Amino acid sequence: MNTKIWLSSPHMGNREQEYVRDAFETNWIAPLGPHVDGFERDLAAYTGAGHVAALSSGTAALHLALILLGVERGDEVICQSMTFSASANPIVYQGATPVFVDSETDTWNMDPVLLEEAIKDRIARGTKPRAIIPVHLYGMPAKMDEIMAIAAAYDIPVVEDAAEALGSSYRDRACGTFGQLGILSFNGNKIITTSGGGALTGNDEQLIRKARFLATQARDAAPHYQHSQIGYNYRMSNVCAGIGRGQMEVLNERVAQRRANYEYYLNQLGDLPGITFVMEPEGFYSNRWLTTILVNPAESNGVTREDLRIALEKENIESRPVWKPMHLQPVFDTAPAYVNGTAEKLFDQGLCLPSGSNLTQSDLDRVINIFNEVMQPQKV
Ligand SMILES: *Cc1c(COP(=O)(O)O)cnc(C)c1O
Repeated sequence: MNTKIWLSSPHMGNREQEYVRDAFETNWIAPLGPHVDGFERDLAAYTGAGHVAALSSGTAALHLALILLGVERGDEVICQSMTFSASANPIVYQGATPVFVDSETDTWNMDPVLLEEAIKDRIARGTKPRAIIPVHLYGMPAKMDEIMAIAAAYDIPVVEDAAEALGSSYRDRACGTFGQLGILSFNGNKIITTSGGGALTGNDEQLIRKARFLATQARDAAPHYQHSQIGYNYRMSNVCAGIGRGQMEVLNERVAQRRANYEYYLNQLGDLPGITFVMEPEGFYSNRWLTTILVNPAESNGVTREDLRIALEKENIESRPVWKPMHLQPVFDTAPAYVNGTAEKLFDQGLCLPSGSNLTQSDLDRVINIFNEVMQPQKV
């Protein structure tokens, strides 16, 4: 059997173990410590975010963001439908209702036209949304000028889900720094990983301080344990932050490698009938976390996304359908949704290709050979 090719696997650099060894040698194993502070500084310097809190996951970061914005039971929060469930789950943790908005076809992210329709309609029905969660899916920035203008016009804060977009930018500004708050993820499959972790970004120092306070059990200043608010155990450990510091040193290389994967796939597969890639609009810079394609059976002699996925799987190559939209998920079937059919079509035809920064040339060629065998059998 050929060796397994993963969709996106961890890729350590040379220095992570030094940082972790330092944590061991100084016995800064838990909970906080100098690597946490250092990782927060590294992230702030890289993204240009004013302030950063390192946390246990991207999901925890989203949850704290909603708490900080005062989202409570009975509130509504607008969320991009085309995303991973972790974008929406924290809305429900707060007892609020997600309102899903469909995507536009250029970036696959929140459609600004539908966003405004949704806001107007929710207000007309008596509930003004308390926050908007756009996502930079697969690393491609959302249309932030339009989204931020609408958010400002209706005075609704934006929580930017940049979990997949560290290293991406929009008009030369890093993803995760547009909203009142932004979140990053360092889960194992993301562009860099701390084995598990996340971060909350923002320019309001008070909010980020409050996030650190809530993330460490909301302990008041007193010699005994005193609490006047409900707290959470959401902070990143010093060991994980050590891995993160090492990963930050290679982040630019990781982005370059993932972008090179995309270019190679585009060059080798871009002319196959019925296969389309997502292009960067002018001013958009994607980290190309995952290379995604659409497979249109009406133009590919009937070949479907599933035909390709299964053929790859038989050769021990992991690929994956794109995220199933939240408005089509059983768990969210009663949530309001403003849809135009885009996310549903993307889900029907979309495939994520192996995209790790540690893929070799022969790994990429194995993927391409399968495509050629399935789509151009007469030529092989
Ligand atoms: C990974 C991811 C998250 C959650 O991050 P975790 O660190 O895994 O909790 C949230 N939103 C999106 C879009 C993601 O891809």
